[in-house]
Amino acid sequence: MTLDRDALFIGGAWTKPATDAVLEVVSPHSEEVVARVPEGSAADIDAAVAAARRAFDEGPWPRMSPQERIDVVQTFSGLYAARLADMAELITTEMGAPISFSNLAQSPAPWMQIEAFLGIAREFPWESTRPGVLGADVMVRHEPIGVVAAIPPWNVPQFTVMSKLVPALLAGCTVVVKPAAESPLDCYLLAELLQEAGVPEGVVSVVAAGREVGEHLVAHPGVDKVAFTGSTAAGRKIGAICGEQLKRCSLELGGKSAAIVLDDADLTTTLEGLKFIGLMNSGQACVAQTRVLVSRDRHDAFAASLAEAVAGMQVGDPMDPATEIGPMVAQRQQERVEKYIALGQEEGATLLTGGLGRPDGLDRGWYVRPTVFAGVDNRMRIAQEEIFGPVLSVIPYDDVDDAVRIANDSDYGLAGTVWTSDHDAGVDVARRVRTGTYGINTYTMDFAAPFGGYKASGLGREFGPEGLAQYTELKSVYLSPPPS
Ligand code: NAD
Repeated sequence: MTLDRDALFIGGAWTKPATDAVLEVVSPHSEEVVARVPEGSAADIDAAVAAARRAFDEGPWPRMSPQERIDVVQTFSGLYAARLADMAELITTEMGAPISFSNLAQSPAPWMQIEAFLGIAREFPWESTRPGVLGADVMVRHEPIGVVAAIPPWNVPQFTVMSKLVPALLAGCTVVVKPAAESPLDCYLLAELLQEAGVPEGVVSVVAAGREVGEHLVAHPGVDKVAFTGSTAAGRKIGAICGEQLKRCSLELGGKSAAIVLDDADLTTTLEGLKFIGLMNSGQACVAQTRVLVSRDRHDAFAASLAEAVAGMQVGDPMDPATEIGPMVAQRQQERVEKYIALGQEEGATLLTGGLGRPDGLDRGWYVRPTVFAGVDNRMRIAQEEIFGPVLSVIPYDDVDDAVRIANDSDYGLAGTVWTSDHDAGVDVARRVRTGTYGINTYTMDFAAPFGGYKASGLGREFGPEGLAQYTELKSVYLSPPPS
């Protein structure tokens, strides 16, 4: 079955693109073109924003009751649940995540988000009344924010679309989604399911394109809010445009999270945990725990065990269910990771496993060797910059205060973990690290609670009631005092 497409989903209809430009989707494993789809242009974005604007200003969606919108999203959720395996396979095909990870997270987690947001929307205070201080009541309304531009990256493409699309829809917004050029396929299936669920005309459009066209969408005067996930560099640019235009924006950006291993941590649990949350999605994860902080006394032994565990991970064809680490998304990403591996050696870190060169038997495909550095100084660039590949840095600390200081010595503040058998000590560390999310002996994102970053990791929060509120404007209506 071909994955090729020749239309864009604009305003709820499959539409001929404005230009002949094509995006080639290249398999990161075979380096072969697996699909050709239209590359959206500025003119396609203009058409999508015009449709979203009309649907918001004149259409039924923002005027429906929250319950009516919940009913449509509930139907969509059922349709999505039936296609989880297809969605996981599409994502692995286009961006190379191991299929085990795609089946665990790339499609089930977005579906869990839909269900979580449905529950939150049922309880949400869309309109409430509170006593004022002047003797009369005040009605406070959460109204839809307007036309939303949703811009996801390629690494967790459905995960990062759903965290924007679903709360936006439930709030009564209309949405233009711009998938990344590397991963346009999953949103075709998404659009089909939205159409089948009965989302009204104009409410959602999907236009896959590169950065320039993305920037056209961000700056478009018809857009009221930009919801972006991606690199900190792009986030700064987008934030600057939105600041200039006083446009609402939420930014989910990069990370360089620290796992603090306390001396009483259980070794097996910690190694298993770090293999997963340090290297999940082949290390291409914003919340990856890439700095592993270990007390100076235990550093060498722990680093050796970690290196042995990583060296034993299966690297290869992402469609193989046994694969734990697949290829990088693109050659440019492979080169970037290798540049950092070389840099780590130049900076004087000790290479324990991995390094430059291809994993055995993988001469084709954008593979790198899973790498562990030990004896890393937190001021080294490999400890400060986001590599976005399977590279872990083990950093020694003197005591817990020093570990917290090192964890906080970062431009980023997205996630973190602590590994310990003492729950209270773990909670104490969790309180002291300046990040938006934290895990104790685990890192499992819970969609009931806000997710997002401190510092250069972003602005705003996704998930939870806080994540739904980001798609609303607040209006206070001062009610007249009741007649006496
Ligand atoms: P990227 O910033 O290059 O691109 C992300 C998306 O933004 C793509 O759709 C791209 O086309 C678009 N884009 C890029 N520049 C733009 C601009 N100036 N205007 C409008 N659109 C623009 O990031 P990437 O390489 O695709 O993704 C990896 C990055 O995403 C990493 O830094 C990672 O940490 C981050 N990320 C963050 C989270 C989070 O929740 N905080 C989740 C996943 C990924």
